[in-house]
Amino acid sequence: CGIVGYIGAHDTKEILLNGLEKLEYRGYDSAGMAVMNNQELKRFKVKGRIAALRERVPDIRTATMGIGHTRWATHGMPSEENAHPHTSATGRFTIVHNGVIENYLDLKNEYLPDTELLSKTDTEIIVQLMEKNCDETQSTVEAFRETIRMLKGSYAIGLIDAEDEDTMFVAKNKSPLLIGLGDGFNVIASDSMATLKETDQYLEINDREMVLVTRHAAEIQKLDGSIVEREPFTAQMDV
Ligand code: GLU
Repeated sequence: CGIVGYIGAHDTKEILLNGLEKLEYRGYDSAGMAVMNNQELKRFKVKGRIAALRERVPDIRTATMGIGHTRWATHGMPSEENAHPHTSATGRFTIVHNGVIENYLDLKNEYLPDTELLSKTDTEIIVQLMEKNCDETQSTVEAFRETIRMLKGSYAIGLIDAEDEDTMFVAKNKSPLLIGLGDGFNVIASDSMATLKETDQYLEINDREMVLVTRHAAEIQKLDGSIVEREPFTAQMDV
């Protein structure tokens, strides 16, 4: 399983697909991606190979942000419906996630008893909670922080708010995820190998940190809202 994300002006679709191909070695049963293209979120998913996803995605060179995923199913069988990205009920929030949300059923019963879930995954609860928390806080950053605080288990998360084309919301706990820093763009990836073609400068994310990633910055925060300063390291090609 694996995650790739990109924000910037280059060919988002190609960067995501290339990245996912580099992550194929991690094993997966389905794949998908979502991109923001002219203020519109477009989502594509397949059961099976990245090659099939490549065939499914049309020519969208104007996309300026995107998240891609290879899934190793833990909750819900491998299917197009259960493949990531998952989207909240109104379509506002879209997520890719690696890991396992151990308390997803408790969260569902406690906070969203009446919400009809669209998939059988543990992941979907994160976007549905995001929407509920955003209604309450009226701030995407606050809602994201609150949502992440509620999660128990392992996660590497990339989330898009369809109403904010300039920010990718990222969080990590016990699943691998790095931020790659570029000149006028940034990437996220489970393994730097996926995006080494784009950049060799990477920021580590510690467990239970979140990151607000824009084209020009990556702001790491702890879950109490304090900002973390961290220097990037230079990633090397494995030989
Ligand atoms: N638990 C999630 C699912 O089954 C994510 C699996 C993964 O890490 O790929 O969809």
